[in-house]
Amino acid sequence: MMEIALIAHDRKKDEMVNFAIAYEHVLKHHRLYATGTTGTRIMESTSLTIHRFMSGPLGGDQQIGARVAENTMDLILFFRDPLMAQPHEPDIIALLRLSDVQGIPVATNVATGELLVKALERGDFAWRELVHKYKPGIEE
Ligand code: PGA
Repeated sequence: MMEIALIAHDRKKDEMVNFAIAYEHVLKHHRLYATGTTGTRIMESTSLTIHRFMSGPLGGDQQIGARVAENTMDLILFFRDPLMAQPHEPDIIALLRLSDVQGIPVATNVATGELLVKALERGDFAWRELVHKYKPGIEE
């Protein structure tokens, strides 16, 4: 079981909801986290259970970033809006930087999201289980 974070900026939320519906059969086997509104929107449209952090602008990205810093997130699905300035831009940059520090797979658009979720379905994330083994906080 992998730990997966889902975040979508406002104009990408419909895309994220459709993505979650399409890949619910894959996502339901994993532990899911999201920023506040993204999590609510997905739960309204699917049977998925999602641990919701704060809304992004109120610190949700930072909360997910803290997990990333501890190397306890396995996959970040972060559908960003490239055409709209975000008030929490520094938090977004921090989350992406920390993901690169730990070498965690990140999708910043739906096309990459599909590739990563299909890889997850195939079992290509098995290498992350080695990380879990040395992280007592993560249960299998
Ligand atoms: P939200 O946060 O899911 O609470 O809207 C995501 C964002 O817009 O950064």
